[in-house]
Amino acid sequence: MKVELIPALKDNYVYLLYEKIGGPATVIDPSEANPVLEKLDELSLSLNKILNTHHHFDHIGGNEELVKKTGAHVYCSTYDLNRIPEAQSGLKDGDHIDLLGESANILEIPGHTMGHIAFWLAKSKLIFCGDTLFSLGCGRVFEGSLELLWKSLHHLAALPEDTMVYCGHEYTEANLKFVKSLGDESVELSTFEVDLAAKRNLGRPSLPSSIKTEKTLNPFLRAKNLADFSRLRIQKDSFGA
Ligand code: ZN
Ligand code: FE
Repeated sequence: MKVELIPALKDNYVYLLYEKIGGPATVIDPSEANPVLEKLDELSLSLNKILNTHHHFDHIGGNEELVKKTGAHVYCSTYDLNRIPEAQSGLKDGDHIDLLGESANILEIPGHTMGHIAFWLAKSKLIFCGDTLFSLGCGRVFEGSLELLWKSLHHLAALPEDTMVYCGHEYTEANLKFVKSLGDESVELSTFEVDLAAKRNLGRPSLPSSIKTEKTLNPFLRAKNLADFSRLRIQKDSFGA
């Protein structure tokens, strides 16, 4: 499975999945249509599936135009069927859909929004988790509750550690500032910081991360309990940047 990262809007990533040049493709969270259409053209791919992790505009903004131009089928959580443009098929926890010959597992991970889902490709060891888990961070609670988000993060943390994590935004540098403000001076974090700077200085994405990295460094996954996690999330809300 090949994954193309397409930067969109200010700091979103759209993910384009395909097996071979000239073949079919699936797109995840197309915030805009144009950069996706350009990439499809460049790689001679035909788009047949659009997957949305949740209903926020910066994850669905390209749905309408992409459907109009390619006829792709749109999948999202059953919860979001009525609030995502062009949505056709609703998905629930434990459902599977075929992605280019591989079975993708659907995980319900509410908290950021109530209808938030993730797409897990167990064989390829990839997870697309939208705005629930970020590298060194997590999403804000817009719907649902801190408790739901906490449970969802642990649902993700239970995946195999070598699973590569594809998040909805390039927030890693800002999240690192927050982690350092908490006083983490570990060797692991310093190594991460050096690697991150090297990637970003070359204009490369910080993503994907991995479940192992996030379990080691992400303070939201390392929080001891719900109270700890909640305190941290509220602290981050007012941290700025
Ligand atoms: Zn969002
Ligand atoms: Fe977002």
